[in-house]
Amino acid sequence: MKHYNIPVFISHFGCPNSCVFCNQKKITGIETDVSADELETIIEDYLKTLPKESKKEVAFFGGTFTGISIDLQRNYLAVVKKYIDDGKVDGIRMSTRPDYISHEILLMLKEYGVTTIELGVQSLDADVLELSGRGYRPEKVFEASTMIKEAGIALGIQLMPGLPGSTDEKDFISAKRVVGIGPDMVRIYPTLVINGTQMEKMYYEGTFAPMTLKEAVDRVVPIYALFEKAGINIIRVGLQPSDDIREEGVIIDGPFHPSFRELVEGEIYSRFLTIHRDEVGNLNVKANEKNISKIVGNRGINRKTFGKSFKISIDNSLSLKEISVNGNLITREEILNGVI
Ligand code: SF4
Repeated sequence: MKHYNIPVFISHFGCPNSCVFCNQKKITGIETDVSADELETIIEDYLKTLPKESKKEVAFFGGTFTGISIDLQRNYLAVVKKYIDDGKVDGIRMSTRPDYISHEILLMLKEYGVTTIELGVQSLDADVLELSGRGYRPEKVFEASTMIKEAGIALGIQLMPGLPGSTDEKDFISAKRVVGIGPDMVRIYPTLVINGTQMEKMYYEGTFAPMTLKEAVDRVVPIYALFEKAGINIIRVGLQPSDDIREEGVIIDGPFHPSFRELVEGEIYSRFLTIHRDEVGNLNVKANEKNISKIVGNRGINRKTFGKSFKISIDNSLSLKEISVNGNLITREEILNGVI
């Protein structure tokens, strides 16, 4: 059954933390920007547009849900619980920080029907976390993840490759640690310098440089392959090109691309096909039609790179997990192994 999120973006104006990449405005006296009444309107409006036969989660994004006051959390959750009890919504999803999870909080969330928690982990390297002002150590992530899994709530983990102090190796080790945790899903957001953040100051002072787009793709390729091989659902790679992000002057610098995931997929195939081309001299590729655009790459980059030596055709007798290259059947696993 198709799954839909009903997204509710809740700013956390009272956040006491100082993550260097965050531009959340600190406004005293106001906790968030969505009232319980407004929440009801958002849900009603979305429900009108979604098919009845689908799985729907109300998804609280944009802030640290379990960092807002308990009363307000309960107010929001109670609104959604009515829809769950009426069978109109199937669950609740939220993003929060690893150090805002406790047994008491999880008990309360379960009571209201929370089904998924996405932790903004960002890195599992102690130095990177410190330089990024996250305010917790990797142990906290392991602790929170175990608690969430034991509570029977699906776990999502967000990583930000390219934070201050990170390297290819450190980010890859972080990803390996995430695989060890065994989340149900991950999101990968290469770090961008956003206007109004501490990181913007570091950038202009010359104490932080973001990855270039090429560096970011190269860094994410092995991480992506690792997660896919581990059977972890990769629900997002790169920031969604929302209106906020596209606004002039919001992204100061960094590896933003509206189709970042396609770049990663294309690079995985490019590396694999390069080895074959170098060995045999030509590339006669067959694949399921659903895989063709990934193999050809964003804007046909791989077709351009390989030029006349590259021929690709549809063969729907092949599954999504295999391609044929010069008559040899190659599994997706073999392709992924080549980039880790
Ligand atoms: S990213 Fe950090 S500073 Fe920004 S709202 Fe979340 S916890 Fe607070």
